[in-house]
Amino acid sequence: MDSVIQHLIQEELQRQRQGIELIASENFASQEVIQAMGSCLTNKYAEGYPGKRYYGGCEVVDQVEQIAIDRLCALFGAEYANVQPHSGAQANAAVFLGVLQPGDPILGFDLSHGGHLSHGSSVNFSGKVYNAHFYGVDQETGRIDMDKVAAKAREVKPKLIICGASAYSRDWDYKRFREIADEVGALVLADIAHPAGLIAADLLTDPLPYCHIISSTTHKTLRGPRGGIIMMGKDFPNPWGRTTKKGEPIMMSTILNSAVFPGMQGGPLEHVIAAKAIAFGEAAQKSFISYGQQVIANAHTMANAFVSRGYKIISGGTDNHMMLIDIRTKSPDISGRDAENALIKADITVNKNMVPFDSRPALHTSGIRIGSAAMTTRGFKESQCEQVVEWVDEAIVYRDNESMLKDIRSKVNTLMSNFPLYP
Ligand SMILES: *Cc1c(COP(=O)(O)O)cnc(C)c1O
Repeated sequence: MDSVIQHLIQEELQRQRQGIELIASENFASQEVIQAMGSCLTNKYAEGYPGKRYYGGCEVVDQVEQIAIDRLCALFGAEYANVQPHSGAQANAAVFLGVLQPGDPILGFDLSHGGHLSHGSSVNFSGKVYNAHFYGVDQETGRIDMDKVAAKAREVKPKLIICGASAYSRDWDYKRFREIADEVGALVLADIAHPAGLIAADLLTDPLPYCHIISSTTHKTLRGPRGGIIMMGKDFPNPWGRTTKKGEPIMMSTILNSAVFPGMQGGPLEHVIAAKAIAFGEAAQKSFISYGQQVIANAHTMANAFVSRGYKIISGGTDNHMMLIDIRTKSPDISGRDAENALIKADITVNKNMVPFDSRPALHTSGIRIGSAAMTTRGFKESQCEQVVEWVDEAIVYRDNESMLKDIRSKVNTLMSNFPLYP
């Protein structure tokens, strides 16, 4: 028994049990999902795809992976799915590898406005290998201005347009993105890492009819194991005229599968794929729709409560599970980092986040990002969400008052003891 690591795992479980988790990208996977990740499937090498492996003994994991693929396709109404990407960033890397050449222009959502590193940031491989351009939000409205996206696309002629974000509280106009892409001859990738669960529950616009390729994580609102996926609503022949030896057009499904393996990754994590299959099954239940509805209702409640306490929500509200809060309107002298640090003393976890047109650098920031997905899994309804915002506000206002923060923490811990996590 490795008592050091076992002890730390118990300590982390205790932290998760007693605190309020508001990080928008986190959730609590079911115990069954967690058990699958801790199973003997981790021992199996299975390079390749079901029925076409480079190793023997894959009869069982072939079934596991095929069930994961079939369930994912059914959940989103997709014709194609790849469940092997180890993470969301890996899924994006594989899509880029499959559809782009080094140096190709790409157009993504600006990281400093809520986009993701893997969409062309200069510190990420996507910004080093490809010629990255960005669209952002309008300073007044906090929303993406589609006319500006169109103008930028005409200017930079991207080969790939990426929609999707890590800190954007509004739904996406995928139809318009597709029209713009068709006009300039680009493919559209929708990275739904954050809202995937809400899209699966039919509570937000479905990107599959409009976007050529969909990538996602499985651990955010989808509430599965940590991992990535790639889908297509419809498979289609590659647009570059590549053919097989027999002269038949190569389908995009073949190109994307080869990009994941052997292009980007080696052996798949079949234990995680088993956990993905379980999570996709859970997301297909009726109860997952009510979960998604409550996630959105809770986010609305929190957004309204923040606004009524003098905070500014970027774009004025939320359509999904998250919100980006500019805390400068409440107190101009406090940074996102200060707020994050004060809240952690009260056992409330958030992350500091740049707001669009931020006056502070990335390690300080003027904002915090908050999401409702994890606490909704714990059982929070509107009334608890009101209470949480009151505590968050108090902790920010009294950030230098240690006894006040301690007091909030004990109230947080008492509340959370009524919302048990794992038996
Ligand atoms: C979280 C996120 C990812 C990356 O996921 P990882 O699993 O951390 O690699 C990719 N894209 C978007 C938009 C995300 O929010």
